Formats: sequence, structure tokens, C-alpha cells
Amino acid sequence: MKTSIATVSLSGDLRDKLDAIAKAGFDGVEIFENDFLVFDESPRQVGRMVRDFGLEITLFQPFRDFEGMPDGLRTRTFDRAERKFDLMQEMGTDLVLVCSNVSPAALGGLDRAAADFHDLGERAARRGLRVGYEALAWGRHINDHRDAWEIVRRADHPNIGLILDSFHTLSRKIDVNSIRSIPKEKIFIIQLADAPLIDMDLLYWSRHFRNMPGEGDLPVLDFMNAVAATGYDGYLSLEIFNDQFRGGSATAIAVDGRRSLVYLGDQVKRAVPESRLTTKDMPARSQVKGVAFIEFAIDETEAPQLEGLLRSLGFARTARHRTKNVVRYRQGDINIVVNMDERGFASASYLVHGASAYAMGLMVDDAQAAVERAVALGAERFEQPVGPGETQMPAIRGVGGGVIYFLDGSAELSQVWEIEFAAIDASQPVDAGLKSIDHVAQSMRYEELLTWLLFYTAILDTRKTPMVDIIDPSGVIRSQVVENTEGSLRITMNGAENRNTLAGHFIAETFGSGIQHLAFATDDIFKTAEALAKNGFVPLAISPNYYDDLEARFGLEPALTERLKTHNILYDRDEHGDYFQLYSPTYGEGFFFEIVERRGYRGYGAANAIFRIAALRKHLRPAGMPRA
Ligand code: MG
Ligand code: MG
Repeated sequence: MKTSIATVSLSGDLRDKLDAIAKAGFDGVEIFENDFLVFDESPRQVGRMVRDFGLEITLFQPFRDFEGMPDGLRTRTFDRAERKFDLMQEMGTDLVLVCSNVSPAALGGLDRAAADFHDLGERAARRGLRVGYEALAWGRHINDHRDAWEIVRRADHPNIGLILDSFHTLSRKIDVNSIRSIPKEKIFIIQLADAPLIDMDLLYWSRHFRNMPGEGDLPVLDFMNAVAATGYDGYLSLEIFNDQFRGGSATAIAVDGRRSLVYLGDQVKRAVPESRLTTKDMPARSQVKGVAFIEFAIDETEAPQLEGLLRSLGFARTARHRTKNVVRYRQGDINIVVNMDERGFASASYLVHGASAYAMGLMVDDAQAAVERAVALGAERFEQPVGPGETQMPAIRGVGGGVIYFLDGSAELSQVWEIEFAAIDASQPVDAGLKSIDHVAQSMRYEELLTWLLFYTAILDTRKTPMVDIIDPSGVIRSQVVENTEGSLRITMNGAENRNTLAGHFIAETFGSGIQHLAFATDDIFKTAEALAKNGFVPLAISPNYYDDLEARFGLEPALTERLKTHNILYDRDEHGDYFQLYSPTYGEGFFFEIVERRGYRGYGAANAIFRIAALRKHLRPAGMPRA
């Protein structure tokens, strides 16, 4: 599989774009006319620059309003085409994209359009060039790839072919199986884009909201499987018009784009084994059986406060690392590692971000395979020197530069606790009945949401749920969940648009994205609340007004409402069941713990977020105050 991306997808000037595209590993680039026009070099120099970056120009675009023009305009349209051909030859590309005519002057008629393309094909052939015809979803007469294909078929010229663009086909819900009967040699290139499902004008949707395959809601894989069935083995080229991408980091967007294509190729390979639209073989997405541990990086002066909070939550201090200043806390299946060591990555992370949950360990079937897949998808492998007798745990870098470790049942990895830690005997708090990690919540800048959504879903066997808006008194947080069917991995990602929100404050003060809260699961939230009280845990106080409203909203028994209120427990319900939530106050720069009980409920209590945020904010130091 050869990969390409249109310059229009990225920010910066042409040189910046090409640099990012080359570094991300693409083979080719579509040159958008405007990117060339605003650049100061000649077509020849631009062509040389592209090749110096090791890239091929996959096509030049767009050439608009060509086919079906009335006689008076037809000659001028062909003259225009000849001038583009001159430019293409100087630049060194042989393919131009002609998109279907949107001009009110266009006459329509398949045969008229076919005749125009036949003539254009003759002119192109004289120069050794090719013309690809694309049906825009909002074309005046041609807005369906099936009609565009009919015109190409009737034009009957070897230098005239079809360009398929997943957005134009899928946005109009055109049956993708109609692609299967198109001869592969007549498909000159495949353009790919996804998009979130939004009911709006097609042109506006396309120009502002396209995103990378896998980031949106369109069935791009179905489209690709149909393309693969034709035997097509040419370029897959991303053409992404997205306001956020064009204002973002070209490097990051290019990396996401390349990852989306590699992931798509992998999915096509699994659906259509004979397909050649894949870059490399890689292990399947890892099934995560659970979060094996969460590790905090902290220093000795701050550790007592965190450890006090963990003890009040019922965590027992069970073991100490044999050679490092690292302690293991346990409750149920939950492991919390408190790393106070002054060497290694944790310490470096602490120096940059302050105390934070910088790493998580995921239990999978095959830890090496998980890392192998992640690296094939462009993730960064993480390794640090290990001491004698210590285990090198397979790992990659994750959100905010944090670390994701992988554990499995292999001889070495399954015994890492016993090998590296020695039990300690200490007085323990009352067990609060916390069983496992229900979800890990990461806060990040809004622009990063799609990046990490694609990262998790491409590497791990997970799915995304629809984006939800959470109202913070200081702004909107966009929340997106990645989870697996078993519920053994749930990651909630909160994208903050400004630093005034609780999530925004956390990112600003900890110098980067990361885990902002951890939710533990209990089977009996009331019993847990009582045990917590015995340990001296002080829950986050929720406004009494919340409970009056709750009773009315859900028709709860007053006795239940009273119990919820006594323990500061929040409540929600969906069609599957009930949900109970209990929070700790914030620790440090906005980190907190949550305890949940699910009785069939599948969500995350989004409706309660505004009450939780309002209560948490009272505990934060006033904005602008120096760090203690
Ligand atoms: Mg297109
Ligand atoms: Mg939560």
C-alpha cells in the first residue's frame, strides 16, 4: 500500500507541510493549487522540493467546472486545462483531479460530458498526462460516483479515469457495493476521509469537519473493502478539510493521518485477505483484561498526603520495591504504585509535571504483541534501564508523554510483583470493598482528543462512544469514551478548550495532558461509604439542592434520597440500570478519586458532571495563587 495526503489537510506553508508529511512516512502528496499559488517558488522548484523530501506528487488539484459547458465557455475551459497541464509537467506530476461541475452554466447530459472528457483525454495523452474525474457530493448534475463512472466509461479513453472519495460517496449514503464492479485500472486514485455524523449542508460539512478514517462515524471500512474487491492496489490518499487540523500541529496531524491509513489497511487485510492495500502484517488488536496497576510519580515530601488519601480509601500498603523507593498499595484487584525514587523516568516525569499518575499497566494476552502492534502503528516504544533481577516490562508512550505498560501471563511478567517487591507488615486501614478500576479519566487539550481516540482504538480492542458535552461553569468540556465490550477497559477522555475549566486548569498546572481521575468499582456503595468514614475519608460535599432535584427527576423514594445525601453519593440511571458515584476532594492540581457502583448502567454519569465540577472547584486553590 502506498500512502499519500493532500497538502490542504495540514497547517503551515508548503515546505512545513512537506516536511511533516515526509517525516510521518507518507510516500506521496497531493498538491493543492492554493498551497502552490501562495508559495514563492516556481512549479519546477516545487517539484524538486517534493522529490527532495523523498515524496511523489500523486496528483494536482482541483480543476473545477470543466464538463458540460455551453459552446461559448467550452473553448475557454479547455484553454484553462492546457495551462494546468503546462504547470503539472513543470512540477512533475501526471495526474489531475477534475471535480464535477458546480457551475450554473453547466448543461448536464452524460454524453456531452463524456465527449468533453474524451477530447480532454486526447490532449492529456499528447503530454503523457492522466485525468481523474471525481463526483462532488454537491455537483450540479453529477453528484454520485456511479454517474461519474458512467461518464468515464462512455468517454472510453485510456487517459481518463475515475477518482473515488469516501466522503462524497458515504455522505450521500450511496451503496458502496456499486464500486465492486468498476475495473481497477479505471480507478486512478482513492481519496479517503471520515467525518462525524452531523446533519448539515454537505459542502459545509465536507469543507470543515472531515477527519481521519476511524476518527469519525462514516463506514469508511465498508468503502475500502469494496475498493479492495476490485483489486485496486494504488495510492490511498487522505484529503481532509478540517478547521482544527489546519490550525493544529502539522507534525501531529500527519502522524495521525499515517496511523489512520495503516490501521485501515490492517482492517481491510483482515476482511479481504488477498488485498494488497496494507503496509505490514501486525498482531491483532490486544484484548485488555483489566488495568493491572496505576503508578504515581511523586517525591517524598508530597507522598504522605497521597498515601494518606489512599489509606483513607482502604488501600493497604503491602509491599516495597527491593531496590527502589517504590511502594505498592492494594485493595481487591487494584494495584496502586507510588514511585518516589529519584532515578528513572518517574522522577523525570515528576520534575516536569509534579505529582501525577504518569503510568498505567494493562493486562493483555501477549504483552510483546501489544507493543509490536503499537509500534507498527507509529507509537513510541518505551524502555528504561533496569537493575539486576528486574523485569523489562513491554511499554509504549501514551497521553501527555505518560507510559502504558503491558503485562501478561508469561512466566516473567506474571511474577513481576513477587520478583521485584518484598512484603511489608504494617497496620492496615478498613477494606472499603473497592474491587477494580472502573475507569481511567484523562484530561487533554481538545485538539488532542481525536489523536488519542485513534491511538487507543487502533492499538487495543476497543470502541468509541459518541462524544458528550460536559458543562463546566467556566466552559465546555468535550468527553469521549474508549471502552471494550467486557468493561475491563474504560478510558474517558476529556478535551478542554480553555484553561479556566477544571480539566483545563489541570492541564495547565501539570504542564500537559494526563490522568486526572481514577474511578474504582464497588459492589455496595453504601457499605463502602461507611467503611470510608471509619478510615477518616472525607467525601466531596455535594449541594443539598442536587438531592431535591434528583428525587423529582427520577421519582426516587425519599429514604433512598436521604441515604444518598448523607453519604454525598450522586445517582444516575439509564435504560440498563442504576449508577452511584462518590468522589474524593481534589488532590494537588485537580486530581481526584471516584468510587462507582454500576447496577447494569453503562454510562459515566455525564449528567452529574456539572454538580461534581462545581463541588470540586471549591477545593481548588484560587486561580493565580502560587503553588504551595
Ligand atoms: Mg476529493
Ligand atoms: Mg468518572
